[in-house]
Amino acid sequence: MATKIIYFTVNGRPERAELPLDCPAQDLKDLFRSAAEARPHDILKLYNPKGNLINISPRLEPNNPSSCYKLEVVAADCTSELLGVELAVALGFNFSTMEKRLQGLEKKILAQAVETPAVVYEMKKQVDLFREKLEVNVKASRVWSTSAGWGCSRSCLMDHTNPPLSTTRDLYAKPVMRSNTSLEVSEEVRQYLKTPSFDNWQWEDAEIMVLLQVMYTDLDFIATFNIEPEVLQHFLFEVYRRYNNIPFHNFKHCFCVTQMMYGLIWMTDLKSKIDSIDLLTMLTSAVCHDLDHTGYNNAYQINARTELALRYNDISPLENHHSAVAFEILEKRESNIFRNLTIEQYKRIREGIIQCILATDMTKHNEILSKFKTILPVFDFKNKDHKDVVITLMMILIKVSDISNEARPMEVAEPWLDCLLQEFYNQGDMEKLEGLPVTPFMDRDKVTKPSSQTGFIRFVLMPLFIELANLFPCLEQHIVYPVRKALDYYTEMEKALERDKQNRAQEKASKSKESPPGSQAASDAQTASVQECSKTAAQ
Ligand code: 5GP
Ligand code: MN
Repeated sequence: MATKIIYFTVNGRPERAELPLDCPAQDLKDLFRSAAEARPHDILKLYNPKGNLINISPRLEPNNPSSCYKLEVVAADCTSELLGVELAVALGFNFSTMEKRLQGLEKKILAQAVETPAVVYEMKKQVDLFREKLEVNVKASRVWSTSAGWGCSRSCLMDHTNPPLSTTRDLYAKPVMRSNTSLEVSEEVRQYLKTPSFDNWQWEDAEIMVLLQVMYTDLDFIATFNIEPEVLQHFLFEVYRRYNNIPFHNFKHCFCVTQMMYGLIWMTDLKSKIDSIDLLTMLTSAVCHDLDHTGYNNAYQINARTELALRYNDISPLENHHSAVAFEILEKRESNIFRNLTIEQYKRIREGIIQCILATDMTKHNEILSKFKTILPVFDFKNKDHKDVVITLMMILIKVSDISNEARPMEVAEPWLDCLLQEFYNQGDMEKLEGLPVTPFMDRDKVTKPSSQTGFIRFVLMPLFIELANLFPCLEQHIVYPVRKALDYYTEMEKALERDKQNRAQEKASKSKESPPGSQAASDAQTASVQECSKTAAQ
């Protein structure tokens, strides 16, 4: 059956619909209605990228992610359970009050040793569902509101009325996407993009999409592998959709890893040393390396016996999944950036991507680093038969990129550490809640910012980065030096925290000496005298 694809955003969320070419108007409206979670009497409005209202009819033109339509529900029923966030706030709907009331009710029932009535469970479920929905909406609107206009006329890429996020940004011209295919990004930005000091926090997701396209273009992949720009856009759009909105392993992390890989390729002049198909493998592996990460690591997957652990028999469940999702995207013709490659080339690239993504499992760290150390003395780029050597280098490069945040300027790296710890602590909390073994570096009661970094930098980052800099001495200044500085910074922070802890312990000890235990204080006496007074008053 002939079909057409329609891309649109609804409530700031990107959607993709596949319809028969002769889809009746009513079916089309029903489809939009369900995508918008609208009620039968709500009015739906569809806008084209120019912001003009268009008809929801069988003649609706198919489009692509860079020219997506925008669907709006105009007359949403206020009494519906699908209240918007603002509406909920405006109406004074307060979740915490509601939840507290329910908890109180439940406690009362439990105290009377009566079985909790089903209606209370039902109410709890409804409150949870509603809260989840609102949270998802808030997250989606935060992420997507900035990028919903990707390529559309209201796109932030073209919005020069927004004040700059920081002064750094003024140094670089914003990228502008004039049409679906032509990329206008200034030469300054293109050069900045090749450096480890690139600040991801200054760029919106929509701009990041453009920057990723720039990387494919400037490495000549578009021309060399005959990648159609629309296919690249489809691919990146699918990738964007399949990163979750979680604190660390999100789309911005995907971008940072890819951007570091891109920087490493340029800084080491890898273009002149290895085949371009290997470079394409490396960049695409970086783009895909954490697809659909849920925020819980392999240890959790295995201990909690999740679906992923079951599917992959506890063997790198996450990395296997990231790679499988990547090839799910590449299986679709419209998002297969490798569709013009020969069968042999595709086979080689698939094998390479799988190996690179699987190499990001940190339990393989020592094995991969040891292998790299053994081949370093005989490393010879001219020896093209050294397939094994090249793949090991590729694995090292993706590993370096994956854990390279500390090689970035402190103002870029430190917020990433906050994100990582947030995700770690979430997992630690969940492990405690579910009675699973608590991953030591994820326990919020034991791990601090400096304690999580000093060991990691000393024993994981430095040994890895130093080996790579042995092969490429120019990397010493670009990535080894900043990591050394980060180690100093966190060592100092650790000492300061320790001093602070000791000071507080001393203060506490001297306070308890000042007021002997018998006088536990004036406060006790005060409480007693207040009670005495009130007793007298009552008499
Ligand atoms: P990823 O999960 O991103 O593919 O693999 C990298 C892993 O290395 C992360 O999950 C995390 O456990 C660890 N890692 C990366 N960067 C840092 C860092 O800056 N500090 C610490 N403590 N761990 C890191
Ligand atoms: Mn990663």
